[in-house]
Amino acid sequence: MQPRDLSAHGVYRAGRGIEEVARELDLDPDDLVKLASNENMYGPSPAAVEAIQSSAEQMHSYPKASHADLVDRLADRWGLAPEQVWLGNGGDGVLDYFARAMLEPGDAVLVPAPGFAYYPMSARFHHGTIREYTLSKADDFEQTAETVLEAYDGERIVYLTSPHNPTGTEIGNDDVAEIADRTDEETLVLVDEAYGEFTDATSARALVDERDDVAILRTFSKAYGLAGVRLGYGFVPEEWADAYARINTPFAASELACRAGLAALDDDEHVEKTVETAQWAREYYHEHLDAPTWESGGNFVLAEVGDAEAVADAAQRDGVIVRDCGSFGLPECVRITCGTREDTKTAVEVVNGVLD
Ligand SMILES: *Cc1c(COP(=O)(O)O)cnc(C)c1O
Repeated sequence: MQPRDLSAHGVYRAGRGIEEVARELDLDPDDLVKLASNENMYGPSPAAVEAIQSSAEQMHSYPKASHADLVDRLADRWGLAPEQVWLGNGGDGVLDYFARAMLEPGDAVLVPAPGFAYYPMSARFHHGTIREYTLSKADDFEQTAETVLEAYDGERIVYLTSPHNPTGTEIGNDDVAEIADRTDEETLVLVDEAYGEFTDATSARALVDERDDVAILRTFSKAYGLAGVRLGYGFVPEEWADAYARINTPFAASELACRAGLAALDDDEHVEKTVETAQWAREYYHEHLDAPTWESGGNFVLAEVGDAEAVADAAQRDGVIVRDCGSFGLPECVRITCGTREDTKTAVEVVNGVLD
């Protein structure tokens, strides 16, 4: 026997891990700087580490109280009813919930190109079909209502990413509202704010009160440094918030993840330090990389380096792992995550050395 026809399904390629690269190049992992997956330069919040250690004894229980506590805490912080907060196994898990809640077999979704690989993957898993809108380099990957609406043709979900991965560009809330206005009543406009903490722009969260066709995605993976525990959340309009109870995988967020998330939310110092350093590093890349870069609202910068694969390979041999954007359809660009001050400077030195 065989699984269903998966020939249209892509394979997700994550940024390469330190151990993997160290083994391949026969280097000490401690000598490598990994700036390929937009992870937190300071690691997890120490408070989250402590919470996981002290909740380890609770691993035999299903995460009932911790799940409810985290939902309540997020609802409180964002001024929403608890039902409007959808927890998931990473932001990716929440993307699956949106697809599961929205798509009938054959429904189409509209995704950005270049864009985050998991949008089309998730939609295909849920028997959806994919159409793309283009963010073009000629326009500096600018995101406007017009860019999206020109491509729109009645799709059930429109995915927006702000700040956008891998380019760093943003879309204003007026444009989001305009897209929601000018698309069908049954079209969901999903605003992915995975990097929302790193920008000064305001969240599209207010639109969730004003309308029933905008939802938001957020994650603990980036600014909170919890990528390894897999914890993300969505905000959805009140009108259909109860769908969660019908579509969620029971206990999608684990006991350890929920405890870590609760602790991380209280650790303002860690988030502030992370965001501050990312903002410093973005500027440092803009000023010092010997390659064109784009303004970024995230904890990464896109740089045009020529042959990205060759540059990434050479940088890696010199101890710095960056993301070759070939898989995003940008074979001339690398994406470099904001590191600590030291790692950011090392990255610039190494990449400039390679470009030389
Ligand atoms: C990292 C990221 C996510 C979510 O990642 P998780 O680790 O699954 O929370 C979602 N969207 C974009 C654009 C991202 O870069």
